[in-house]
Amino acid sequence: MDACTFDALLHQIGDLSSGQCAGLLSKLTSRIAKATAADIIEAAAASRLRCPRCQGTQLYRHGEANGLQRFQCRACRRTFNSLTGTPLARLRLKEKWLEYGACLLDSDTVRNAAKQLGVNKNTTMRWRHRFLNSTKADRPRSLSGIAEADETFLLESKKGARDLDRPARKRGGHASKRGISDEQVCILVARDRNGSTFDFVTGCGPVTKAQLLEHLPPILAADTLLVTDANAAYRAFAKHAGVSHAFINLRSGIRVTQHPKGAIHVQNVNAYHSRFHTWLRCFNGVATRYLANYLGWRWAIDQQRIHSPATLLRAAIGVFHS
Ligand SMILES: [Zn+2]
Repeated sequence: MDACTFDALLHQIGDLSSGQCAGLLSKLTSRIAKATAADIIEAAAASRLRCPRCQGTQLYRHGEANGLQRFQCRACRRTFNSLTGTPLARLRLKEKWLEYGACLLDSDTVRNAAKQLGVNKNTTMRWRHRFLNSTKADRPRSLSGIAEADETFLLESKKGARDLDRPARKRGGHASKRGISDEQVCILVARDRNGSTFDFVTGCGPVTKAQLLEHLPPILAADTLLVTDANAAYRAFAKHAGVSHAFINLRSGIRVTQHPKGAIHVQNVNAYHSRFHTWLRCFNGVATRYLANYLGWRWAIDQQRIHSPATLLRAAIGVFHS
């Protein structure tokens, strides 16, 4: 809009009724919120901008679409924007994304967030997993010093699945078998004394030596002492992988023992489990297929990695601060 037309527009504002002013303000607020979200995304994606098809970095600017700059790859002519290939690609209503980020930070339910944003709850359900999908990729490099590892379990939930092979449970429900069975999903958490933490969904039933061999060696620095309970799977794993290992026999009532490297216990990792379970109660049952997303979200809260809607938006497209 040229300067003259803009001046004329500003003059006309004096003639608006209060209702029209409110309508205009709401339109402007929404417009600004959309531009702010787009600015955050484009600034975050700028350093890694490349063609999603051929990885080319020679790009032309190629107009704008949906509030975002569009680019064209010089080599293969593919057009794309800063969201192409991210979980937020083709998601609508950018003007509500930052407000939705604030709902996520408050751990709002799908229903409450939908009410606040004035959208359908199917939208906030879809957004939840799109926004959280990348969070689980934000992890420390490795654990060092003393690293505690322990499992915790959640009843398997096929919530939302269409091909249920058993009668549906009402709101979480109870397992039909006692103890740890294949109805329980195992979550392995490993945490060192600096608070660096990893989590893995290992599958249904008790954790096995093979699963420990798959998950733990890549995250344990060479001089790490692994501390666990007396579960035989850990002992077999440590022996096989040549990992220094100390265990505590909780069944005999011992909670802490001493070791040349420090106190041996699994209290930090168990406190992490406890915070996870308490927080998860906000959500009225979580589908197992999305469990990694919730673990990623809990991890981000616990490690204070995401503290504003803007950092959450950046994390949603896989850009994390170091
Ligand atoms: Zn290309």
